[in-house]
Amino acid sequence: MDTELMNLKNRRVVVIGGGVAGSLLAKSLQFHADVTLLDPKEYFEIPWASLRAMVEPSFAERSVINHRDYLTNGRIITSRAINVTDKEVLTAEGRALVYDYLVIATGHLYSVPRTRTERLSQYETENEKIRSAGSILIIGGGPTGVELTGEIAVDFPEKEVTLVHNGSRLMQFIGPKASNKTLDWLRSKRVEVKLEQSVNLNSVSDGSRTYQTSAGETIEADCHFLCTGSPLGSAWLKETFLKDKLDIHGRLMVDKNLRVKDHSNIFAIGDITDIPEIKQGYLAQKHAEVVATNLKLLMGGGKESKMATYEPQSMKAIVSVSLGRREAVAQLPFTTTIGHIPGMIKSRDLFVGKTRKRIGLDPHIVHE
Ligand SMILES: Cc1cc2nc3c(=O)[nH]c(=O)nc-3n(C[C@H](O)[C@H](O)[C@H](O)COP(=O)(O)OP(=O)(O)OC[C@H]3O[C@@H](n4cnc5c(N)ncnc54)[C@H](O)[C@@H]3O)c2cc1C
Repeated sequence: MDTELMNLKNRRVVVIGGGVAGSLLAKSLQFHADVTLLDPKEYFEIPWASLRAMVEPSFAERSVINHRDYLTNGRIITSRAINVTDKEVLTAEGRALVYDYLVIATGHLYSVPRTRTERLSQYETENEKIRSAGSILIIGGGPTGVELTGEIAVDFPEKEVTLVHNGSRLMQFIGPKASNKTLDWLRSKRVEVKLEQSVNLNSVSDGSRTYQTSAGETIEADCHFLCTGSPLGSAWLKETFLKDKLDIHGRLMVDKNLRVKDHSNIFAIGDITDIPEIKQGYLAQKHAEVVATNLKLLMGGGKESKMATYEPQSMKAIVSVSLGRREAVAQLPFTTTIGHIPGMIKSRDLFVGKTRKRIGLDPHIVHE
């Protein structure tokens, strides 16, 4: 190996967050630098497959992937970042990870178990909860609540499902047309949807089947699922030297090369960034590709002026929300459509094979 290549491979890149963006970035750089991936769990999980896994736990065998399966040449630290300086990242377990280049990809913080085995068994438990219930209450009408309701309504049409949402329409992150079409679809599947109401779970005693809504209505259900969204993974940054780089929503401000503003060796990708576009995994993957290109260039001694730029997809973003196994609602740049055609693109495999392929894994075979 020549000296220049050796030097390149000695460059320390620390990636914080092993989600959609961070896992792809770490995988892309693993043979080009000394890569460390820091994540509180031992696995990468494809987020949009998680609701299918609740009705079909074996689905998770392909969508919950040990980091080690795709990151064969990098260091994996199973912990959380709690602080960062201009030279190192401090972990909850007391390690200091020194970096030459840092990539922050802490999108959202999910409350999930540490190991893949525990995660798979959690899906078995959730599935049993669904199967043994005659009536189910879902709280939260964002994408998670809607997709879970769709999965249950299609796979278990005999169950009574109620969806309670505190907003005036479902999935407020996309347009009203998509919300209204989704509402009609859910009602056609006998789902009772209650808008502009919330459920205070603190007032529900253990084992009770009775839930009160903020509008004074009573719902009887054998079990409930709380789908009110996960917090952004940026709270830990608020006490660090990057605190001034957070916008009012807690997102990291980045420049067109996806570097954190005013920091030449710190990048941010995925949902944690302030890029003005809908937060979607396929866009987070594009961010990862841009930063992988830029890091290879910088580590190879290239000029900053030659770095790749990222163009926000504000008007061009496509959003698709699955409605069970065959149908979906899709918001495209010029139209919104619902039914089997958007469903053919997303709902059958939920892009799991495609996502696995992107990180270098077989789309079908389950790695034991
Ligand atoms: C139900 C649902 C359906 C969706 N459907 C789609 C879809 O069909 N298509 C699509 O493109 N997008 C979809 N999305 C959006 C997509 O999942 C997100 O945009 C994507 O996950 C963002 O990727 P990310 O890497 O930025 O963050 P995440 O995937 O949220 O990953 C963040 C990672 O950072 C880790 N982390 C957090 N804090 C710390 C810390 N302090 N230290 C170390 N690690 C930390 C977390 O454990 C996690 O692994 C969907 C989302 C949901 C919830």
